[in-house]
Amino acid sequence: MLVHRVRVKDSALEHQFQIIGTAHPVVEEMLVDTIDHFYLITGGLYRQQETSKIYSVHLDTKEGNNFQKGDQIYLNTVNLTEWIVTHELAHALDAAHSWQLSQQMKAYTGSGFLCKPLHYARPLWKFFWYRAGSPPPPCGIDKNFNSLEDFAETVTAFIFPEEAKKRAEARGYPYEKWGYTHFHDTPRGKFFKGMVAQEKQ
Ligand SMILES: [Zn+2]
Repeated sequence: MLVHRVRVKDSALEHQFQIIGTAHPVVEEMLVDTIDHFYLITGGLYRQQETSKIYSVHLDTKEGNNFQKGDQIYLNTVNLTEWIVTHELAHALDAAHSWQLSQQMKAYTGSGFLCKPLHYARPLWKFFWYRAGSPPPPCGIDKNFNSLEDFAETVTAFIFPEEAKKRAEARGYPYEKWGYTHFHDTPRGKFFKGMVAQEKQ
């Protein structure tokens, strides 16, 4: 088992990533580099925490990519990208703050469900899907989209703004449609920039 350690900047905290399973060395290197890059940008957000974290990263070639309770990160090494890894790390960041970061962003952007019970009762009815207030939305929205995914995609887009811009254009919703040229200038980009900047002081 490979253990990757990250020291949280300006603190005594150390986060451990216990990598279970193997992948091609190139994929493993990308994974470790992406974790380091993530902490370079978001590390300050962990500084106020009292305990260090131990994450288990499960690598396989069959399951999907997701973050599960107990600090478990599941990654499928087939077609794994920096974008996917960062998205799951963003869920981990949100979870480390009791899911309050996504709640704050939901309030800031005025996003949410029109009627959550109806959405669960009728998941295919688009009318009741999550509404991303303060456009542009961070990605395409489907029946599974919610404030947690909104936050994770926002963090990922913030870290990879060029890729995010390309993805938005490919979906047919370029930022220019709302008068923006860069993700960091959009309401979501500004929200996360503010969050990170606050912790640097
Ligand atoms: Zn997700």
